[in-house]
Amino acid sequence: MRILVTGGAGFVGSHLIDRLMAEGHEVICLDNFYTGSKQNLLQWLGNPYFELLRHDVTEPMRLEVDQIYHLACPASPVHYQSNPIKTIKTSFLGTMNMLGLAKRVKARFLLASTSEIYGDPDVHPQTEDYRGNVNPIGIRSCYDSATEILTENGWVPFPKLQSGVRVATLNPENQIEYHVPDEYIVQPYIGELLRFANCKFDFCVTPNHWMYVRSKTGRLKFLRADEDRHWHSWRVITGGEFSGVEQDWFELGLPPRNAKVVVPRILMDDWLEFLGYYISEGCVHVRRRVKVVNGEDYNVADYNILIAQEKPEGRAMIAACLARLGFKFFQSDDHQFRICSKQLAEILEPLGKSGDKYIPHEFLGLSRRQSLILLNALILGDGTQRGNCYIYYTKSKQLADDVQELAMRCGYATSVFYSVGRNLYSVNIRPAINATLVTPERVRYVGNVYCVNVRHHVICVRRNGRAAFCGNCYDEGKRIAETLSFDYQRQHGVEIRVARIFNTYGPRMLENDGRVVSNFIVQALRGIPLTVYGDGSQTRSFCYVSDLVEGLMRLMNGEHTGPINLGNPGEYTILELAQKIQQMVNPDTEIIFKPLPQDDPRQRQPDITLAKNWLGWQPTIHLKEGLKLTIDDFRNRLSSS
Ligand code: NAD
Ligand code: UDP
Repeated sequence: MRILVTGGAGFVGSHLIDRLMAEGHEVICLDNFYTGSKQNLLQWLGNPYFELLRHDVTEPMRLEVDQIYHLACPASPVHYQSNPIKTIKTSFLGTMNMLGLAKRVKARFLLASTSEIYGDPDVHPQTEDYRGNVNPIGIRSCYDSATEILTENGWVPFPKLQSGVRVATLNPENQIEYHVPDEYIVQPYIGELLRFANCKFDFCVTPNHWMYVRSKTGRLKFLRADEDRHWHSWRVITGGEFSGVEQDWFELGLPPRNAKVVVPRILMDDWLEFLGYYISEGCVHVRRRVKVVNGEDYNVADYNILIAQEKPEGRAMIAACLARLGFKFFQSDDHQFRICSKQLAEILEPLGKSGDKYIPHEFLGLSRRQSLILLNALILGDGTQRGNCYIYYTKSKQLADDVQELAMRCGYATSVFYSVGRNLYSVNIRPAINATLVTPERVRYVGNVYCVNVRHHVICVRRNGRAAFCGNCYDEGKRIAETLSFDYQRQHGVEIRVARIFNTYGPRMLENDGRVVSNFIVQALRGIPLTVYGDGSQTRSFCYVSDLVEGLMRLMNGEHTGPINLGNPGEYTILELAQKIQQMVNPDTEIIFKPLPQDDPRQRQPDITLAKNWLGWQPTIHLKEGLKLTIDDFRNRLSSS
């Protein structure tokens, strides 16, 4: 059979693909790698019965397949909340597109739904006919009053901060300086604040800030503050950052084992200008040569960043910007700038090439002032002016969407057109509202954390209490996806299957996805305290991934539509889980208690009577056995990273 697995590069999807391939099926995996990774599929790359397509399910796709397992959707709170509108789009448009495909090619369609659609259940255990207790708005919304900013007059709650007051900042030498902020930014905020422990002031950053980190061996990575806390050095972007000089980095040394140490990325204007221009006009060119040394071959790579430049105003702007950023560059006769930098190439390479370029989504959450800098640089590269409008041209659909979003965030009215003949998207950008700076008086409370931006500095922020979460994009998104699936069955006769998946765990879970099993295991392996939220009396039921995959396949190939619960009815309190993992990994690690997130479901346990009766299915892997396999996998990954 030819089988499509959307989201197949993710945790559950990749295990499902392993099973399907082992059974001799032809498998197509469709994934945009938002949370998934090719690593999960390495063993199948190059296999003639396996095909991997980078594709976003929010776009339609034509394929010939017999079955569709539709799993594409970020599943962990950290990821689905970091871009809630995208999550809704993925649930709604993605499911609609895949149902459309199922309809056209008469494929059977299985939706991976979730126990989250039951919300904070008041029926226990949950049966499939229970309609749930989901609040569509404001659930898990944040409580913001606890954010404080360090000023010359001490800590001040953010909403009470007066304009003109000087706030404490950290300069590149790690010294405290007081400055009047340039602007106030509403920074989307996910998860807990991370503490900066190696500084004499106690301050925190939001974990969804991005930063550069460098390992002891000099390997450079651009990652979220919460992604990895054990890199050798961290940096805030400052003027001379790519000159490659060691002192440019905060050499903090390795943090104490139990410290959370991060420096957030501060997006500097020059860097934004460069990035905007690069996205329009640049590419990374890595040329590999083989050299023979002592009789052995080894690879040498030249890392070049090439930036095309025809317009004189763009040429002048980018030359000045490159100089300010401290790049060594030269201009060639063929209207190109060339920068040779391995570090920079490693940062820019993931931004793709012409047809698949994009703006990383964290750059779409900037203040309006900084968004304008980025937009201007993009337009200078690949835009033209018509009266008081601009048109931005690109071959990349994703980039067209991103530029549209960026322009809208800057207060412009926009539309996107596609020219088939030229295979080109044009984004029309017209002034609609006057783009003005957000001033302290005008900052709106939108369920996020307020940050203060002072050029070249890190701002000192303190926050009591726990994370802010955004609206209920995931739970509601999955409810829409279920409704859509049933509508396609009724109206178009698509054969559907709906699985309501309960908490699943196993190898290949992401280290940083914030879910309880991965959090506890990573914490225990790193010897840092296990963070139990609340008193740990809330319950969950954990299903090992191979059991889930078996259930999904039985559902797909059986006679029943569902919805059907797939999960392990073994119910544990979160404290019990923490203690189990503590015992299994490192009995010396501490367990600490943190505030319970708002509206955290008190209990969750599937009633799997239907799955037993209809599918003859029930989980077979005991929690202890599954945890052992998961711990081994994390141990291997952590030790090799
Ligand atoms: P995951 O994040 O590991 O995998 C999701 C995959 O979908 C990733 O590979 C991601 O890159 C891909 N994806 C996301 N948006 C996409 C898009 N727009 N286009 C194409 N690909 C996209 O998550 P998972 O734990 O493997 O979950 C898989 C499915 O199971 C999800 O639909 C999730 O809602 C559901 N689910 C999982 C759990 C669980 O405990 N793991 C529980 C309930 C439901
Ligand atoms: N949890 C916890 N510590 C953590 C992460 C989660 O105590 O480090 C708790 C969380 O508050 C919830 C439970 O563990 O009560 C399961 O959380 P998870 O995000 O894994 O899944 P969900 O809430 O979606 O079931």
